[in-house]
Amino acid sequence: MLAVGVLAIGSTFASSLLTKDSPKSAIEPIKKVEPQFADGKISVVFVLGGPGAGKGTQCAKLVKEQGFVHLSAGDLLRAEQNRQGSTFGELIAKCIKEGTIVPQEVTLALLKQAIVEENLKGATKFLVDGFPRKMDQALSFEEQIAKSSFTLFFECPEQVMLERLLERGKTSGRTDDNIESIKKRFRTFIETSMPVVEYFEQQNRVVKVRCDLAVDDVYSKVKEALSSRGI
Ligand code: ADP
Ligand code: AMP
Repeated sequence: MLAVGVLAIGSTFASSLLTKDSPKSAIEPIKKVEPQFADGKISVVFVLGGPGAGKGTQCAKLVKEQGFVHLSAGDLLRAEQNRQGSTFGELIAKCIKEGTIVPQEVTLALLKQAIVEENLKGATKFLVDGFPRKMDQALSFEEQIAKSSFTLFFECPEQVMLERLLERGKTSGRTDDNIESIKKRFRTFIETSMPVVEYFEQQNRVVKVRCDLAVDDVYSKVKEALSSRGI
């Protein structure tokens, strides 16, 4: 099912570049693609922060208390990796272990599919966690799916994240909760994901929350952050 979605995105893109019938010399106006969800149809909060900052922990609380649907890009990728017959299993496994960014064609298709499915069931409030982690994802999501309301950014010292991840690694069974992978994930976060936060910050679309505090104290700050943006 996902493969169909990915192919569909690929072929639409390809056919927009070259239409068989059009004369080669004609310059066609670029058509603006409307996002799947027009403004106001759904609300999307991007949740970003370093690995182990506590994004998943806080999102779980928001789901319980505020009725959000939580979509973690990492969880969607792990599920796709484990799905029998997935074309992308090996690629995803390699990226996760190396702490690199899974190509947006896969990540974006998974997210779009999950949002559409949840919306068909009636969901309209989404926490999109661990996404966008690269500029291309940020631009494509807002062009093709929906404009985000804002980005909730979890600020956490690297040492705190390291300790949390090593602790989580004792039981998580994750291939990337080990010191080698963690170092690579930190590098990807700084080099590739922080520019996304800076891009949204320039547009005044980021609310920062300190998260080297107890879970409930972070949660109070998260709620303040949401209400500062009318949520
Ligand atoms: P992320 O989704 O950002 O990778 P998680 O929510 O999985 O982070 O949290 C990483 C680890 O740290 C988990 O084991 C979690 O239980 C723990 N944790 C999360 N928030 C806190 C906190 N405020 N204080 C202490 N430990 C925390
Ligand atoms: P996480 O579960 O958020 O810690 O993510 C684990 C790993 O999944 C990351 O290190 C990446 O390899 C991959 N991943 C998670 N989110 C994304 C994303 N938005 N884009 C590409 N790869 C991602």
